[in-house]
Amino acid sequence: MSKKGNIGVTSDNIFPVIKKFLYSDHEIFLRELISNAVDATQKLKTLASVGEAKCELGDTRVRVIINKDKKTLTVQDHGIGMTAEEVDKYINQIAFSGAEEFVNKYKDKAEAIIGHFGLGFYSAFMVADKVEIFSLSYKEDAQAVHWSCDGSPEYTMEETIKAERGTDIVLHINEEYAQYLEDATVEGLLTKYCKFLPVEIAFGMKKEWKDGKQVETGEENVINDTNPAWTRKPADLTEEDYTKFYHQLYPHQMDEPLFHIHLNVDYPFNLTGVLYFPKIKNNIDIQRNKIQLYCNQVFVTDEVENIVPQYLTLLHGVIDSPDIPLNVSRSYLQSDNNVKKISNHITKKVADKLAEIFKNNREEFEQKWDDIKLFIQYGMLSDEKFYDRAVGFALLKNIDGKYATFAEYKEQVKENQTDKNGDLIVLYAQDADASYAYIQRAKEKGYDVLLMDGELDVHAMSQYEQKSFEATDGSKLAIRFVRVDSDVIENIIQKEDKAKVELTASEEDALRYTFESQLPKTDKTRYDVSLEAVSADALPVFLTQNEFMRRMKEMSAHQQGMAFYGNIPDQYNLVVNTANEKVKNLLAEIIATCEAGVSPLLEQIAAKKTEEDALREAQKGKKEADLTQEEKDAVTNVTKEMAALKMQLKEQYATYAASSEKIKQLIDIAMLAAGQLKGEALAKFVNRSVELL
Ligand code: ADP
Repeated sequence: MSKKGNIGVTSDNIFPVIKKFLYSDHEIFLRELISNAVDATQKLKTLASVGEAKCELGDTRVRVIINKDKKTLTVQDHGIGMTAEEVDKYINQIAFSGAEEFVNKYKDKAEAIIGHFGLGFYSAFMVADKVEIFSLSYKEDAQAVHWSCDGSPEYTMEETIKAERGTDIVLHINEEYAQYLEDATVEGLLTKYCKFLPVEIAFGMKKEWKDGKQVETGEENVINDTNPAWTRKPADLTEEDYTKFYHQLYPHQMDEPLFHIHLNVDYPFNLTGVLYFPKIKNNIDIQRNKIQLYCNQVFVTDEVENIVPQYLTLLHGVIDSPDIPLNVSRSYLQSDNNVKKISNHITKKVADKLAEIFKNNREEFEQKWDDIKLFIQYGMLSDEKFYDRAVGFALLKNIDGKYATFAEYKEQVKENQTDKNGDLIVLYAQDADASYAYIQRAKEKGYDVLLMDGELDVHAMSQYEQKSFEATDGSKLAIRFVRVDSDVIENIIQKEDKAKVELTASEEDALRYTFESQLPKTDKTRYDVSLEAVSADALPVFLTQNEFMRRMKEMSAHQQGMAFYGNIPDQYNLVVNTANEKVKNLLAEIIATCEAGVSPLLEQIAAKKTEEDALREAQKGKKEADLTQEEKDAVTNVTKEMAALKMQLKEQYATYAASSEKIKQLIDIAMLAAGQLKGEALAKFVNRSVELL
């Protein structure tokens, strides 16, 4: 038998299509050829097990052999092999089910073509000038066959002599792809794609270090573990096996995983796998150890973004499913029904597993919470369904390290932390040290303070607030998370109406102008003064910051479309506590010291005021148009004069304040308590404090 012919695709040929569109991915030829070799081996095993194949199984290892002189790479198996008829059917008539028609139809859609052919054997032509097949079928009295093709649609096929059953695929590597004749490159690819194939894959000999040199041992270098954890039954695996497998997957990962989830579904789709919750220390860890996707133990990709929800990509491990369409576009993947089901299934499994650990072993769950928190919050924020499942086990941690679910926490603090309007106020700190004094004050009142120092905590709080407010199951509740240092505790959780500031207008001016004149003036931060009768035992002056604005600014740091908030200057209120004894004394002192300069001004202002009132009274009832220019000017002038007098008044207090160490000290203390006293200001404060001793 000797035959020449054309490969069953006439539309010129398919190779340019393969070469062109798979250029970037040409390395997968090896995966494809080895998959075929593994398939052929497994088919033989199946046939032997049912008594169909009479031959001895013998050595079933698949071998990858490089011949540098001949510039060939051979994939050798001892599987079922092919007869001449089979080569004709399977290789010559590529994808014999109407390939020609198909290629014509989808000429421009390379992805579809490639997907249809599963790349397969012909991907060899991406890197080879010529490909040869030497095959001997397992069938009794089979005749070995030699097929050869140089990439044109022409091939030759003839009888040959081959001693061993199975198939050798010999690639004459194109010069451009000489890297595939390098041991290191090929070993790298084998480790990437074949690490968990079900049939042993050997490449060269194992090496060991001897006298400072690497020498070959007599043992073949088997690349893969044919029985990886995810293909085994959970009941047959110990905790150790799972950990071992984790390190097999990620040899550079030093940390142990926190939990694992064994996936095993066969209906309505096929899916196996093991997912791990890693200790997430930083982004680099996440980027390096990605979930790996396999198809029947053949590595496909570690880009699983379209197969599992984004937040689940933080997990590590393996997913194996023959039901995930490969070699199709990403947008197609997302709309594929199986993929959607798989994604939902994984989400549910992950949530179920966490719920189970939470329920059965809360202590362990709490211990690991800090490490899985980021992942769970990410999931809750990006997936409503996951939120609904996770809200039952997601934890909040307080300043003393005690954990509670959101529902438990609400119960705990409801009685004590509900304000006069019926709002539940949840207190939190982002930095326990910086807010120490505020936390103490809250604790003295019997309040609890949460520690919210995580990257996503600000977002998580907003979500809790919103969900509580929108609840339709009767649990609707107005909840506000407020940072414990954003105001004095009496103001944050208002139990009764605020006491009024009982000062005259000129007393209020005295305090306001004095403090205002000494506040720092910068572009990035704005300070205002407000007078409040907080309580006798609260600090004399302190800084407050609006919770909403601060949180918006924090969110804007890692969220697009919020730059608006990011650009607004920080705003703080310097609250002067008029109920504090020191403030009362200070006011008396200001008034006494400034009396000489201020009194005449106040008299003049009062006089001007009377003048203005009289003018307005006289003009009352008159229309704008009926007023004479003179009348209008009189009002304008008196207003101007008043403003000028007020300026002088401010200056009086400013002059006093500038010479008053006490005012500066009070402002600095407020700044210091808010963690804002830095650099020169801090140094000045220290010096002044020493002076004052
Ligand atoms: P696919 O594997 O997607 O069917 P391929 O082009 O890779 O497409 O292979 C076509 C067919 O050729 C296979 O289905 C198989 O029947 C046969 N074949 C390929 N390689 C081998 C091999 N090493 N041993 C036996 N048969 C093979």
